[in-house]
Amino acid sequence: MALDQRVFFADIHVHPELPFLGTSFHRIIHEFSWETHLGLSVVAFYEHPFPTRAWAFRRLLRRIDSFVERYGKEIHTGPTDDPQPKKYILSIESLRILPSPRELAILWEKGIRVLQPMHFFDNRYGHSCGEDLVPVSKKGLTEYGVELLQEADRMGFIIDLAHMNGPTMWDTLNEVRRPVICSHTGVQSLVGSQRNIPAKVAKEVLRRGGLIGVMPWRHLHRGPITNLDEWTARYAETIMELSSLGGFNGGICIGSDRGAPIFIHPKFYLFNQVKTLREQLFAKDIDGEARWHEFLFENAHRYFLKHIGPCRLPIPSPDAMT
Ligand SMILES: [Zn+2]
Repeated sequence: MALDQRVFFADIHVHPELPFLGTSFHRIIHEFSWETHLGLSVVAFYEHPFPTRAWAFRRLLRRIDSFVERYGKEIHTGPTDDPQPKKYILSIESLRILPSPRELAILWEKGIRVLQPMHFFDNRYGHSCGEDLVPVSKKGLTEYGVELLQEADRMGFIIDLAHMNGPTMWDTLNEVRRPVICSHTGVQSLVGSQRNIPAKVAKEVLRRGGLIGVMPWRHLHRGPITNLDEWTARYAETIMELSSLGGFNGGICIGSDRGAPIFIHPKFYLFNQVKTLREQLFAKDIDGEARWHEFLFENAHRYFLKHIGPCRLPIPSPDAMT
């Protein structure tokens, strides 16, 4: 792919590789791999709790180490005037394998700056959205969860609401001072899936200066979706809905979940399709060129500069943005 055929954007939920099934799915969608864009990525590390959580935690640390060994100079962990551009921010998807809040210090030391406490199932820290597969608890954070989030917040971690049930989201908003993110989601005011962020929570996240990443997974957008252009139009609809909940003041960006074992059309973020997305958003009255750039890159860029610290993040060339 020639350089001018690439699209520059930030993506706040990307999997470099997943163990077991994820790895093979990731190979199938190689064309859609996480390295094929120029920009800023929040890299999500995930481990199955197998055979034990302690074992999985050690495996997680080894995987973080090998990523850091490879990309260390490009990882943004705090204010720096190092001239090397920083392209990656490190996060953990699911803290169910975290032995206790005491180990947060190890994750911080290794460069992790974003924590997503929940995933598919309830865990010792809180309650999951259940993925529309199992009944959703009415409970929020547990006592352990409150302790964990208070400590994480004190240390400077950014908290990610993705996969939480509603009460756990609200409890989290009550426990942390820093604006939160919801890294990969749709919105319940369009599709009532429990996996989507409730509109009231989204409003509150945006009111506090937080960030919401919109995920292209078909299940989270209004149907029917029978082809790629329709898919893009529905994705644009979700972007507009979430933007309107924040009064069109920013805070919405891409959170693709690339590399996860779910089917997202392999052409979704290729050059021509991003052009289609742009046309769709303009057709839906997105307010001019500036807002398009904000969605594609600036909202995420601004948020992380503010909440992790100034550094040299890559700057898009104007050609790559149109
Ligand atoms: Zn996820």
